[in-house]
Amino acid sequence: MSKEIPYKIYLEENEMPRQWYNVRADMKNKPAPLLNPGTLKPCTLEELSHVFCEDLAKQELDDTTAYIDIPEEIRNFYKMYRPSPLVRAYCLEKALDTPAKIYYKFEGNNTSGSHKLNSAIAQAYYAKKQGLKGVTTETGAGQWGTALSMACAYFGLDCQVYMVKVSYEQKPFRREVMRTYGANVTPSPSMNTEVGRKINAQFPGTTGSLGCAISEAVEAATTQEGYRYVLGSVLSQVLLHQTVIGLETQTACKKFDIVPDIIIGCAGGGSNLGGLISPFVGEKLRGEADYRFIAVEPASCPSLTRGVYAYDFCDTGAVCPLAKMYTLGSTFIPSANHAGGLRYHGMSSILSQLYDDGILEARAVEQISVFEAAQQFARTEGILPAPESSHAIRAALDEALKCKETGEEKTILFGLTGTGYFDMVAYQKFNDGQMSDYIPTDEELNESISKMPKVD
Ligand SMILES: *Cc1c(COP(=O)(O)O)cnc(C)c1O
Repeated sequence: MSKEIPYKIYLEENEMPRQWYNVRADMKNKPAPLLNPGTLKPCTLEELSHVFCEDLAKQELDDTTAYIDIPEEIRNFYKMYRPSPLVRAYCLEKALDTPAKIYYKFEGNNTSGSHKLNSAIAQAYYAKKQGLKGVTTETGAGQWGTALSMACAYFGLDCQVYMVKVSYEQKPFRREVMRTYGANVTPSPSMNTEVGRKINAQFPGTTGSLGCAISEAVEAATTQEGYRYVLGSVLSQVLLHQTVIGLETQTACKKFDIVPDIIIGCAGGGSNLGGLISPFVGEKLRGEADYRFIAVEPASCPSLTRGVYAYDFCDTGAVCPLAKMYTLGSTFIPSANHAGGLRYHGMSSILSQLYDDGILEARAVEQISVFEAAQQFARTEGILPAPESSHAIRAALDEALKCKETGEEKTILFGLTGTGYFDMVAYQKFNDGQMSDYIPTDEELNESISKMPKVD
């Protein structure tokens, strides 16, 4: 007999994980190492420590330690907004008239409005512990910059944010939230850095990209004493911190005898999805259970479904280490009409390897259908979802509708990564019927893919 499931499952504070889970320890095929772009040899701890905080560089390189302690200071901060609820979407199930059971893990219950705070606070903590003055970073849609500003305010660190220009202009309120928490926000590409000046000269009028903002932030970190660069996704350390999502989900599922058949998440750089699925992937890799995992990406930036699996630069300016990942090429700039946190050209090397091994599935969805799903979700479940999160909603709806056809009572669980209050320009376009779908042609993708570095 399964237990009666409350609408919202809240864990007790003491059920929050005390350790993050490093799925690489259980992977037979480890993700390929980061390479030094100069020597093409695996990056050493020393090399990484010039750019990243030392403890974070260690986490980046560690593919054998399965459990890594969450420092008490970080757990204390987590307690302000965690554990996050696992919600049974009863109203949505009813509206869809599906026999499927739908659950979502909601990460939008904090001011930054997304899961990104889980890693921001960890990264700020390690920067503080190392005695740094501050950190630099990029932000696309603004969620990461907001999360990092909050984390830096908490630990008294300086926070310099390079914000992709299109978002800087479209989301003035995001910018003001960051400034309220004390961050310095610069539109990217800017004229502050050498790489920014170069990109501005090469692509006049460009609205920027995440890859380009990363290059600026890295340059800012490495040219100022006492600063390091921090990144909101893609890296294995970020995915590690985000496993707090999956570990809580796993505990809640065990407590209520919930066994998901399908676990779904949107995939930008892959950290939220990786964090959600890691503990379940671990069970699958160890032969203890079986699940389907689905990554959902935008059709306008389809790194898993249409990219290549190869070494590439993480940034447009080619200053970061090379990572082996599914990528569209670091020079790929997705269409400006799709502003959001899913506009990154590459994918976490952990998820890339899991996808290559057939453990993770991927699908690309189009923008209008994503907003249709967002609207239906908002009207039934009450939460106004972030456009990024709505990619996962789209796929969850599609799976639930399949169940309606077949009569299967599958359990579908997805990550609801955040809220969309700062995305009202996108919602406005959708409501006015002015939203378009731009899907890059093979020629466009081949162009950026052909410019990738030749490694191997
Ligand atoms: C940044 C962001 C994403 C993308 O997350 P990744 O971990 O990079 O895949 C998804 N949803 C929201 C709300 C975000 O802010």
